[in-house]
Amino acid sequence: MDTSVEEETDKGLRTLRSNNRASLPAPRSTNKPTSAVSEKLEKTLARRESELKRKIDKLNDEIAAASKREEEATKIIKERDDRTRSTAYEQLENNFTCALCYDIMACPWSLNHPACGHTFCAECILKWFFSGMHRACGTWHASLDCPICRSTLTHPRPTPPRPVLTFPFSPNRVADAALKDLIAVVAGKEKPKAKKKVRSLTKPGVTLPWEAWLLGGSAHTEWLARDDRGRFMVNEVAKGWQTMDYDLLVITKETLGV
Ligand SMILES: [Zn+2]
Ligand SMILES: [Zn+2]
Ligand SMILES: [Zn+2]
Repeated sequence: MDTSVEEETDKGLRTLRSNNRASLPAPRSTNKPTSAVSEKLEKTLARRESELKRKIDKLNDEIAAASKREEEATKIIKERDDRTRSTAYEQLENNFTCALCYDIMACPWSLNHPACGHTFCAECILKWFFSGMHRACGTWHASLDCPICRSTLTHPRPTPPRPVLTFPFSPNRVADAALKDLIAVVAGKEKPKAKKKVRSLTKPGVTLPWEAWLLGGSAHTEWLARDDRGRFMVNEVAKGWQTMDYDLLVITKETLGV
């Protein structure tokens, strides 16, 4: 490149730079403002900073208020849920307590007697029925009276075939559906969080009667197991009723532990 052109370019750039500097405010890092412009800028910046700070403070207050409202709403929802659970549990206790085990019924079946129709847990009613069977001969000697109203059932035929209509029990589907609905209300959809969480309705250490019925709770788990066992057993016995021989009757009695 030609030297003179280089010099000319340098000179031109220098002029451009010095002109620019004069029209621009001093950079903020300069401690001593050198002109009225930069002083004004400092003031503007300071004002904006304090405006921003006020806005941030206001926003923080709003966030705090919102989270307080949310906390209160959560508490109200929890109290409402607790009341719903408590009511459902009361209905379970009042209408679906088994007269044989005194627990909430699991898989309800009723006695087939025109004057009775009383309902018990499938497992309980089978235990009651098979406990009356004499192991040595596979027949019933004592009378089969409903544990509630004493209506007397006909003794089953000791040897197969047995007419299907002589099966002494039938499923109580209405009770079964109602039970499941109520149990689901008490249990909830989610497992409750860690125990250390302080309950709003009770003092620490005080438990509500339905708490063991929450999803994953001891009573709920135990009920599910009873429901499963009862359903399986009663269906097996119902299926085999017509053809069950002495051996099967005894095995059933043994399986039920009566
Ligand atoms: Zn029962
Ligand atoms: Zn009865
Ligand atoms: Zn006998």
